Formats: sequence, C-alpha cells, structure tokens
Amino acid sequence: MDTAFLNMSLETLEGWLRETDETRLETLWTAADETRRAYVGDEVHLRGLIEISNRCARNCAYCGLRADNKQIERYRMEKHEIMDCAHQAKGFGYGTVVLQAGEDFGITRAWMTDLIQTIKAETGLAVTLSLGERDDDDLTAWREAGADRYLLRFETSNKELYARIHPPAKGKTVSDRPAILRRLQALGYEAGSGVMIGIPGQTYASVAQDIDLFRALDLDMLGVGPYIAHPHTPLGEDKMPAAPANEQVPNTELMTYKVVALTRLVCPEANLPSTTALATLNLANGRELGLLRGANILMPNMTPPQYRVLYEIYPAKACIQETARDCHACMGARIRSIGRTPGTGHGGRKHRVPTGESLFLH
Ligand code: SAH
Repeated sequence: MDTAFLNMSLETLEGWLRETDETRLETLWTAADETRRAYVGDEVHLRGLIEISNRCARNCAYCGLRADNKQIERYRMEKHEIMDCAHQAKGFGYGTVVLQAGEDFGITRAWMTDLIQTIKAETGLAVTLSLGERDDDDLTAWREAGADRYLLRFETSNKELYARIHPPAKGKTVSDRPAILRRLQALGYEAGSGVMIGIPGQTYASVAQDIDLFRALDLDMLGVGPYIAHPHTPLGEDKMPAAPANEQVPNTELMTYKVVALTRLVCPEANLPSTTALATLNLANGRELGLLRGANILMPNMTPPQYRVLYEIYPAKACIQETARDCHACMGARIRSIGRTPGTGHGGRKHRVPTGESLFLH
C-alpha cells in the first residue's frame, strides 16, 4: 500500500462518510488504528481539562454558554482554585493542563499572563489555552508567558453555515477562524482545531471539506465530537434549517468515528482526543471506541464539581457528577482495558516518520 489514504480526494472522503457496509468500515477502523500506532504509538496522553469560566460575550447558535442564555448561573474560577487543579494534574502524572472558557473578557491579558507564568513555574506542565477568539496582543502575550498550545475549532469550513451559527462580536464582521489558526502557528503555538458533527445544515460534502482543511492547515491537534442540541439555543430550538435529508450529516456516534478515523489517516501525526461529547452519546465505551479508531488523547475533566455542573455547553454532558479523582481513575482503567498505556511527558506533536510495520503506509 502507498500513501493513498494520506492523499484521499474529497470524493473519496465523502464516500467514506456515506459508507454503510460494516466490512468496509472495519477496514477504515483498522487503517486508522494502524496509522495511529505507527505515527503516535500506544501512549494515550492525558490533558487535565479545567473549565475556568462559563462567562461569554458571544452568541454562538449552538452553545449553552452563549451570552443571551440567561438561564445559567455564571462563574469565573479564582487563581488559587485553578492552581489547586494544576497541582492535582501534576500529582496525577498528567503532562498538560487545558484552560478552557467562554469568550470572557473578564479574563484579562495581565491576569492570564500571571496565571500561565505561575503554572509553568510551579508545575512545569504544558499549558493549552481554549479561550475563544482573543486579539493578537493577548495571544502574543500569552505565548511569551509560556503557553504552549491553543485550541480553536473552526466548527465548519462552510462559510455560509459558519456565518449562520457565529454572529460576529460587537462592531466586528464574521470571524475567520482558519486565519486565526495560521496566526497561532506563526506565534509558535501548537495549534488545534476541529468541528462538530451533525450541525443542522451541515452536508456530507462540507464535512469532507472540513477534513481536507485539517490537512491543508497542518494542525497539531484535532478534536471532533457530535453536535448535541441545547434547548436554550437557537439551533437547539430548531430555529435553523437542516440540509435536505440525503445531504444532512447525522449527529451520531458512528458518523463521529468515521470523521475521527479519516482525520487520523489524512493527519497521521496529529494529537486526536476521544472527546467528552462522544462519551456523552456512549458512556459505556465511546471513549474506548474513539481510541481504537484513530484517537490517542483523553481529556479528563478536573473542574471542581460546583463549577462543572455550570459549564453546560450542551445538556447531559458525560462525567458531570464526578470529581477529578473519579475521572482520573476512570480514564486510567479505560486506557488499560484496551491494552494501551497512559502517556508520560508533555505529549506534544511528534514530527516523525512512522515506525513499525504498517499495512497501509510505507
Ligand atoms: N469559547 C471557546 C471554548 C468553547 S467550548 C471557543 O469558542 O473556542 C469548546 C467546544 O465545545 C466548541 O468549540 C464546540 O465545538 C463544542 N460545543 C459547543 N456547543 C456544543 C454543542 N451544543 N454540542 C456539541 N459540542 C459543542
């Protein structure tokens, strides 16, 4: 076999997205798993997720944190609370903390700079930020303070759908997330992105384009999860049109696995999480199936319980009642149950040629 998977055309990608034959799908899962093993190995890196604020200035049509949702109580964690989580992550042996929030401008450049410097000085962990569309001066300052990575999903590569679900910030035009991702790369961040699967109005052809854009941007991290309707959002209230039935991508577990597997094949070196949204659709073994079909990362939730329940981007999120310690034990057991090992070190992107025998990529 040659690099056929790596260079899959849009037509081939769409064909796989529409594939229903179980035997054929088995070949896709096997190819993704082989490629994962050859390029990023058997280690599953753990990223301790700390949801530091649910305040948000934006009104994304799908997200429960949107500013116009008055039905949630808002919080922003204190520095000492975040530091307690970071120390706990270090104690658990994680290599990275991910600081995620709504687009909260109460999180100032100076405050975040100090937080990043303190985490780096006291723990030495890799720091990943997921704070939405911040301006260039913020991104520059935080990179200089030592932040290693930044996550910003582009959610869909279809410009019309993107604009429909992402009203611009006050006084601005519709944002260009691929441009922000290129800027993050230029600043020296490892850049991560991703999409939701099954957004009303999202077509098979556009998901094929999404995967093609992952490849074109050469992203270091790629997260994909099913879209889950939130009742207090315009998209969740069915106020936005679906695509015609034979074009609309379903927001299913199976479709998510297909996108994870195809992403691994076209971006073999990237770090790919098996996401919480996937676990929300299949609590019993969604995480494991993601790891067996291309993923190599888990993001155990470390948010303190009193805040965790309030970080409701979508309803009935998995692991909402657990503590960080529960999630730690659970993730370790899931990793071992499929014969993999918890990762050590920062677990950044590996740039390298594949090792070992692969049936699919030589
Ligand atoms: N404010 C940050 C973090 C957002 S939450 C940002 O905008 O980047 C992280 C991710 O959760 C989003 O990128 C989105 O892909 C996902 N998400 C939000 N609402 C969701 C929903 N209803 N269903 C599934 N995923 C959702």
